Amino acid sequence: KLDERTRDIVKSTVPVLAEHGEAITTHFYKRLLEDHPELKNVFNMTHQKEGKQPRALANAVNAAAQNIDDLTAIAPAADTIAEKHVSLNIQPEHYPIVGEYLLKAIKEVLGDAVNEEVLEAWGAAYGEIADVFIGMEEKKYEASAWTGYRNFTVEKKVKESEEITSFYLQPEDGGSIPFYRPGQYIGLKADIPDYPHTQLRQYSLSDEPGKGYLRISVKREDGTDELPAGLVSTWLHKDVQEGDVLPVSAPAGDFYLDESSNRPIVLLSGGVGLTPLMSMYNKVRNEKEVYFIHAARNGGVHGLKEEMAGKQSYVVYETPSEEDKTLGVYYKAGYVDLDWLRTVVPKDADFYFCGPEGFMRAVNGALHEWGVPAGQINYEFFGPKGTL
Ligand code: FAD
Repeated sequence: KLDERTRDIVKSTVPVLAEHGEAITTHFYKRLLEDHPELKNVFNMTHQKEGKQPRALANAVNAAAQNIDDLTAIAPAADTIAEKHVSLNIQPEHYPIVGEYLLKAIKEVLGDAVNEEVLEAWGAAYGEIADVFIGMEEKKYEASAWTGYRNFTVEKKVKESEEITSFYLQPEDGGSIPFYRPGQYIGLKADIPDYPHTQLRQYSLSDEPGKGYLRISVKREDGTDELPAGLVSTWLHKDVQEGDVLPVSAPAGDFYLDESSNRPIVLLSGGVGLTPLMSMYNKVRNEKEVYFIHAARNGGVHGLKEEMAGKQSYVVYETPSEEDKTLGVYYKAGYVDLDWLRTVVPKDADFYFCGPEGFMRAVNGALHEWGVPAGQINYEFFGPKGTL
């Protein structure tokens, strides 16, 4: 247990972390990956380039420093991260390496501004935080359907829209399909020819459990003039064929349907963010009062369109085509906004949403403005953990 002096020192560094946190974590990843290139097989190298991962880590470190007196205050955020670690197969032995490089980065970025006592305090605090994660992850591994990767065969590949394709997966060993909660995701290990590292990506399971397969639905991230195409999604769309085998980690994630609640359920998705909600919808559509609102640019890129149709499903297209306009009752042009939302869904409901960050911010803002209690609002980021 950390003594009071150590905790005071850590707390006193919060303003410095707020200012230099991202510089420290950016430096940290650079040095870590230089010295341990094997970790390029574990980290998402695109998030590294975009700077998303250093930002997420800086936020996490800052939150831990602020709450070092009582780390249970950050338990929900820590749980989301621990679930992701489990899907990436992070092991206890990874923690000391990370700790070593984090301290090095603090020292190298802040220079004379930190003395030995501060570094020691941070060393001790890191050890404590790492132990919390290791403990949480150990329990999760014990409860997990398998650890590491299990080979799944692509049984069926189905085009769902201009951009989204589903992959139906069966265990290569012929064993049983694991249990999962609607909303959870799997990790997929991509060994792409000509790419120097393996890359891991998460994909939400897009159908309800108990169907005799795992289904993921993947959006192809095309490149632009400025940006390269998405690595794994492009490979899945273009190169992975029926009969191919993919290494998959067990279902994980803390964004899932609370089936014990009796409130109506409202699902809100933007773009490919509909996948975890599709799983929830299919699970409860015949049993519960459930509303499904989906926003997309237009019908051409809207995957799983027929599957989400229902008398309480609403589609909101930003720029609908003439053909889209023939969709009938469940169609609205423009964006999801509070004025419209309150006319189609009940307020005292459990809300689940997922989509691009701008969409999630808008939905979160609308729900708070409406006065929906925070405990009834649930969301998933399709990237490093962020805050809304
Ligand atoms: P990446 O190579 O990772 O690139 C991502 C984007 O960054 C691309 O648009 C690319 O153009 C851009 N980019 C590349 N290089 C740079 C650079 N240097 N600077 C700035 N931008 C750059 N996706 C789905 O399609 N379906 C799902 O159901 C799904 N579920 C998910 C669930 C969870 C919990 C999480 C965390 C993610 C989920 N994702 C899902 C997202 C998925 O994991 C991948 O992130 C996605 O497929 C893109 O991966 P990629 O390798 O194709 O693209």
